Amino acid sequence: MGLDEEQLEAFWRTGRDHAGNTAEPFVDREGGWPLRCCLRDSRAGEELAIVAWSPFRWRGPYAEVGPIVVHAQPCESRHEGGQVPVQFRTRRQILRPYGRDRRIAYDRLRLVRPDGDIDRAIAELLDMEDIAFVQVRNPLSGCYSFAVERADPTESSVDATSGMSGA
Ligand SMILES: [Zn+2]
Repeated sequence: MGLDEEQLEAFWRTGRDHAGNTAEPFVDREGGWPLRCCLRDSRAGEELAIVAWSPFRWRGPYAEVGPIVVHAQPCESRHEGGQVPVQFRTRRQILRPYGRDRRIAYDRLRLVRPDGDIDRAIAELLDMEDIAFVQVRNPLSGCYSFAVERADPTESSVDATSGMSGA
């Protein structure tokens, strides 16, 4: 799934992120920021903001807040889910599974290389009964990319949420 739509709208309305920071929009000069609102890379000339975000539906010790990049103004297009966003297929990613206890399943963290089989790796994790969902993150910065949950018991689907950081 993508970022929570209501929370995104609240950010665009108030200009305040999950940590209470006031956004400082900037114009992207070169493009290539991985946007988490629409799950594509930015284009030169777009107005962006780096914001602190918690991509969790609850609060707790594992529900961390971290930086992501979004459009500074409301944008339209949304990732449709069901597949890994194109922008992350060419980037190394960490698959971070969470158990139903809302903790990281440390023994099953995985690194996926560019053009590695990220779809299969995600499906394998979601096949594990005790895994509730998987977050995909940048392996160096830890910035959040998107999250995947099961659509139904027989079919895993990718729902993209967002996180941050170049490449
Ligand atoms: Zn956007």
